[in-house]
Amino acid sequence: MTPTEENTTAVVVGGGVAGLALGTFLQRSGIRCVILEKHSRQYVENRQRAGSLDARGVRMLHEWGVGEAVEGPGHDSSDESIPLIVDGEEREWKMDYEDAEGAFLPQQILVRNLIRIFLRDGGDLRFEAKDIALDGLGTGHPRVRYRDTAGSTTVIGCDFVAGSDGHQGVTRTAIPDGFLTCHTHEFGYAWLTVMTEVPADPPAVMAVHSRGFAAQITRGPNASRVYLQCPVTDTVEDWPDERVWSELGTRFGEPVPRGPIGTKQVVPLRGVVFSPMRYGRLYLLGDAAHLISPMSAEGMSLALHDAEKLAQGIIHQFEKNDGNLLESYSDTCLTHTWERQAAAVSMTDTMHDSGDATYRGEFFKQVARANLENLLRPRVPKN
Ligand SMILES: Cc1cc2nc3c(=O)[nH]c(=O)nc-3n(C[C@H](O)[C@H](O)[C@H](O)COP(=O)(O)OP(=O)(O)OC[C@H]3O[C@@H](n4cnc5c(N)ncnc54)[C@H](O)[C@@H]3O)c2cc1C
Repeated sequence: MTPTEENTTAVVVGGGVAGLALGTFLQRSGIRCVILEKHSRQYVENRQRAGSLDARGVRMLHEWGVGEAVEGPGHDSSDESIPLIVDGEEREWKMDYEDAEGAFLPQQILVRNLIRIFLRDGGDLRFEAKDIALDGLGTGHPRVRYRDTAGSTTVIGCDFVAGSDGHQGVTRTAIPDGFLTCHTHEFGYAWLTVMTEVPADPPAVMAVHSRGFAAQITRGPNASRVYLQCPVTDTVEDWPDERVWSELGTRFGEPVPRGPIGTKQVVPLRGVVFSPMRYGRLYLLGDAAHLISPMSAEGMSLALHDAEKLAQGIIHQFEKNDGNLLESYSDTCLTHTWERQAAAVSMTDTMHDSGDATYRGEFFKQVARANLENLLRPRVPKN
């Protein structure tokens, strides 16, 4: 069958946080775009991932007129202080104004809201777009081919392709071998992450303990995600439900409310950056370009940052016929990414090295303890 041929300005591959934000920003600026998403709407809207969006991300969505995207059964973190339990003793983070502007917002709520806004405003978002293939990236008119659920093939010619299809996507693999450099740091430990039907109260609690880092973070009124530091060699079979709850209680210093457990995953902590974030007319954004330690809870925020910079570049090109912002897109985003990676490495080292010394030894434990103390409110003297 002959493929259907179409044309647009930007094809956005991947309808996650990065792709949906980019599509929304472009659409609001009158620039034509098509978002192609591999999965069904139902799947994407229910995929559990991140749980908090930092102040920059919240502010950005308001600035683009889509503040409603951060509304829903999340939790405003503005008047919360986050407890940190150090060896069983409850301490408190020093929250500055910037931290307090963030929101506890389950990622699927943000995604659901962005989809609703994009479609409501007439956006072109195609779910279940399979077998995406890119060509002509080195030319002025790249083409994106995909197959729909009926088996028909469509080829969309465009000016720009946005690769926002996550770490395992296909857009990055369309870049010729040897063009990208991949910088990786393995922290040497993993998180067991567990979705539970137990609410988190308060919405975020973290613990530093000689058995390892632990946390319980809200995912809405009736759910939370539990994180337990573990060796990278652990599997979910090593963590039956009973062990999850008893280990969380040990690291929190007291028994915790228990409840049904859903998905479990062992996620090695790592930082990854691909450089440059551009090849010809293909621009990488979000997890397709970098992964950041989940300790920093900044993956969504980095994705939004890239989406904004790319949107500004494309808008500038169209409105002012000026390609400078697009030319500097990769450098601008990489500078920001490395700044956030630096902060994430420091936070990850501090929170993990100050607990279980078996990974990096007693020297780094004491260094991490000193760093940790600077992040906490001073102890209240006991009378
Ligand atoms: C367990 C966990 C907890 C996390 N916690 C936090 C947190 O608290 N705060 C935070 O900020 N970040 C957190 N993160 C990171 C955050 O989830 C990611 O950084 C964020 O999802 C990146 O958004 P993205 O749009 O770049 O990629 P994704 O969200 O992965 O979206 C990519 C999209 O592309 C689609 N896709 C993939 N392949 C194709 C293809 N071939 N064709 C078309 N579409 C395709 C996918 O279906 C998906 O919809 C966490 C991640 C995990 C796994």
